[in-house]
Amino acid sequence: MTTLPLDDDHPHEECGVFGVYGHAESAALAALGLHALQHRGQEAAGIVVYDGEQFHAHRALGHVGENFSSKDVIGRLPGGCAIGHVRYATTGEVALRNVQPLFADFEFGGLAICHNGNLTNSYHLRRQLVRRGSLFQSTSDTEVIVHLIATSLKESVEERLIDALRQVQGAYSLVALSQGSVIGVRDPLGVRPLVLGQLGDAWIIASETCALDIIGARFVRDVEPGELIVIDGAGLRSSKPFDRARRRLCIFEYIYFARPDSVVDGISVYESRKRIGAELARESHVPADIVVPVPDSGVPAAIGYAAECGLPFELGIIRNHYVGRTFIEPTDQIRHLGVKLKHNANRNLQGKRVILVDDSIVRGTTSTKIVAMVRQAGAREVHVRISSPPTTHPCFYGIATPERDQLLASRMSIEEMTRYIEADSLAFVSLDGLYRAMGERGRDARAPQYCDACFTGDYAIALADHEAGKVSTQLSLLAETA
Ligand code: SF4
Repeated sequence: MTTLPLDDDHPHEECGVFGVYGHAESAALAALGLHALQHRGQEAAGIVVYDGEQFHAHRALGHVGENFSSKDVIGRLPGGCAIGHVRYATTGEVALRNVQPLFADFEFGGLAICHNGNLTNSYHLRRQLVRRGSLFQSTSDTEVIVHLIATSLKESVEERLIDALRQVQGAYSLVALSQGSVIGVRDPLGVRPLVLGQLGDAWIIASETCALDIIGARFVRDVEPGELIVIDGAGLRSSKPFDRARRRLCIFEYIYFARPDSVVDGISVYESRKRIGAELARESHVPADIVVPVPDSGVPAAIGYAAECGLPFELGIIRNHYVGRTFIEPTDQIRHLGVKLKHNANRNLQGKRVILVDDSIVRGTTSTKIVAMVRQAGAREVHVRISSPPTTHPCFYGIATPERDQLLASRMSIEEMTRYIEADSLAFVSLDGLYRAMGERGRDARAPQYCDACFTGDYAIALADHEAGKVSTQLSLLAETA
């Protein structure tokens, strides 16, 4: 028996992070914050708290609600400071040893640490550390940071963390919990989001603003790219200890990853998705009767598309919200039903020329099934419109995408893809159209405003491990170091 990822035709966000400094119910706040960040990682969750004397941790496979809703669990996590993490596993098993936050005892005391993102030179660093005697417990690249902290010759936690992060390359938004502080860091390019909030006198750090909203915290500001924030008994202090780099936030956060009710780097995710849909309509509209989203991720772009071209927005596909992300697949016959476990066509498609709006095509498997489903429901024409440019390259910055040769757009032209998914027509928003929707005049080829490597192959952060042929996508080294 295997498990079937029901949403296997989207790129997957890997992680979400949350931190609290100075609240008597820090674990409960962290559980709520992680619940709001559940879309960023559904395979495992963990919280570590510090009560002034001791650290307490609970980590588990599965959803936050399944593991952190009981009084018992929260009662075993006392203390005024906490950090937490939700994780989406990219490769292999979701072993408990990989569930973050990781914790280690150092000579200066305990430190818990977790991050969202991916280090692109962690294989290289890990080999060096293993040669020098470091013993790794997990396959997580966060542990590389832990060992770099352990081997640093600097004095304070803060200096050691900076020393460690100066050696890593990659995209990360990180939170750490020491005996006296909560620390938040965003990588120099700010590829992954991170925000700062306040709840009364308590400070909150989170991947997205939706995690502030759920606990009633006030949004203070985004953590800046390359910024390190330390919150301790003396208050909050900020520094920028890394080499300056041009900001390159992941543009896919706006297209798909972030929750639509979040505001990322000052831009509403929901409004940006609607504007992308409007751009798409201006660029590639064809005569049709209704605009139908592939729910839920295609909904805002479809609203923007429908408004721009003046067509009715209709829920022509209904999503079953009670299906988990994975489903036990007992037989081949049931596996073929896969897509219907999550989506079903509505009766309102009969005889209609349909504009079907989705956010991305990765392998093309889900698009093919959904187009077939819409036709079976009686649609006369199906025109697929995608609110991202063609995904032609894998992501190495913390998003699980397949190898390049499995990306439909890397091996087929638009015409070939149209035939493959059996649509009447297929169009993607252009790269410049996407940037226009983000409020830019277009993509600045000399200094692109966002990371868009999965559409362009323009990787802003060096891919040391990948270029050395050491790892194909994300780090997994356990076999080599075991
Ligand atoms: S490669 Fe794509 S998914 Fe990855 S960080 Fe860049 S824009 Fe985001």
